[in-house]
Amino acid sequence: MTIERTRLLVGGAWQVPSTDATFAVRSPHDGRLVAVVPQAGPADVDAAARAAVAALDGPWAETSGAERGEMIRRLSLGLQARAEELAGVITDEMGSPAKFSLFGQVLAATMVLDGFAEVADGFAFAAERPGAVGPCLVQKVPVGVAAGIVPWNVPLFITCMKLGAALAAGAPIILKPSPEAPVSSFVLADVLAEIGLPPGVVSIVPGDADLGRHLVAHPLVDKVSFTGSTAAGRQVGATCGELVRRCTLELGGKSAGIILDDADLATTVPQLLDAGLQNNGQVCAAQTRILVPRAAHDEIVDALVDHVRTLVVGDPRSPETDIGPLVSARQRDRVEGYVRTGVADGAQLVTGGGRPAGLDGGHYVEPTLFAGVDNRSTIAREEIFGPVLTVIGYDDIDHAVALANDSDFGLSGSVWTTDRDRGVAVAGRIRTGTCAVNSGIIVEPRNPFGGFRSSGVGREMGPEGVEAYLETRTVVLPFA
Ligand code: NAD
Repeated sequence: MTIERTRLLVGGAWQVPSTDATFAVRSPHDGRLVAVVPQAGPADVDAAARAAVAALDGPWAETSGAERGEMIRRLSLGLQARAEELAGVITDEMGSPAKFSLFGQVLAATMVLDGFAEVADGFAFAAERPGAVGPCLVQKVPVGVAAGIVPWNVPLFITCMKLGAALAAGAPIILKPSPEAPVSSFVLADVLAEIGLPPGVVSIVPGDADLGRHLVAHPLVDKVSFTGSTAAGRQVGATCGELVRRCTLELGGKSAGIILDDADLATTVPQLLDAGLQNNGQVCAAQTRILVPRAAHDEIVDALVDHVRTLVVGDPRSPETDIGPLVSARQRDRVEGYVRTGVADGAQLVTGGGRPAGLDGGHYVEPTLFAGVDNRSTIAREEIFGPVLTVIGYDDIDHAVALANDSDFGLSGSVWTTDRDRGVAVAGRIRTGTCAVNSGIIVEPRNPFGGFRSSGVGREMGPEGVEAYLETRTVVLPFA
């Protein structure tokens, strides 16, 4: 059954969109029409921005952190009540396997919200401090109107990273979902419309990159939080720089999973492969460079290949499926281009690389492993955003750390070992925003997440994530 929506949640009410344009969302598995939803136009963004400015001076401005925390909890519960539906919608719109969607797309998103609710409860929005002469009151006040720009790969999760932080801080937010995966944002809007938020605190304006540009440069917007490609992030950052506008950028990654020589391969291999291939490899924090001791390279490659060959590729709605289709034909073509580049550059293609048999109606690429990869080669340096992993040999720990850090990106990473202390010590040397030891948790839903280098600027989640939606001001108190 095709989902049809005709209205947009703008300024606290379901509004008739300013344009007739729609997004027809097709399943990446078989091309069937999943949904037809309205596309917002610049006039809808303008209305959302005006409503957000009004909310800054309305009852929302008077709420305490604890009251906003309560609102975030209501939102989380409302989404949990519709978790199966949301997981199904996201699986249908962008191809995330059902096995992953319920937790990875939806419950992980509500965990993010629950984390922000806790932060809001206990956050010190004001504190008295000594000044040079007399006391001062240091306040953390909402940054103003925020704009959140969201990609298609984990649409609800990334939306909640921005929405939860803005709600905790008390900043109204205008969210722009992507054209490829806008549908779950309408279910989110249903829940938002029911939890009793004042008008203008949240508006949702699905649209394309041009609408994103309009939002980023909008005169009533004070802060932009962008998640997406490094290329688009550079443009957003440039606009914000020119306008002296606060800006958080969460961009691409090429994270390294380092297998130490004492790792237990039986437990490491399935978890590390999941950290690289989950969501069909379309995860910014995916562990796509597998660093292995050179002496154990072939043994580890054999173990990885054995596991990859057990993965079930197919219809993402099937509970058996491990790897579904890529979001679009364009994304599949891009990934296949990288496979050709890897072969041309002399990497060993040890499994996958082609299109799986019998799935011609969808945008599928087999889970693919390259071995003996040079860290300087294109497939080791550029974000592929598909089910393609590279195995790179290292000589010793210092070399492994140097290879992990030798990347334009710096988003996530992992270390695998039976020696906890050794693992924590190596993790401490990896220059990325997140690094896990013996765990496939590549994004921690309650703690700061973000990138070094071209992976972005700023942090989301945790108290640091809330800070990004606050301005700090000093009131000099009378001292006489
Ligand atoms: P994209 O950059 O093409 O688009 C992301 C969003 O930005 C979409 O909503 C799009 O409409 C909008 N947009 C595009 N150009 C814009 C511009 N110039 N101004 C304003 N808005 C613009 O990325 P995508 O293809 O949707 O997503 C995949 C990329 O996102 C990957 O590179 C991936 O690594 C990255 N990503 C990063 C994180 C993270 O937290 N670091 C998380 C998920 C995805």
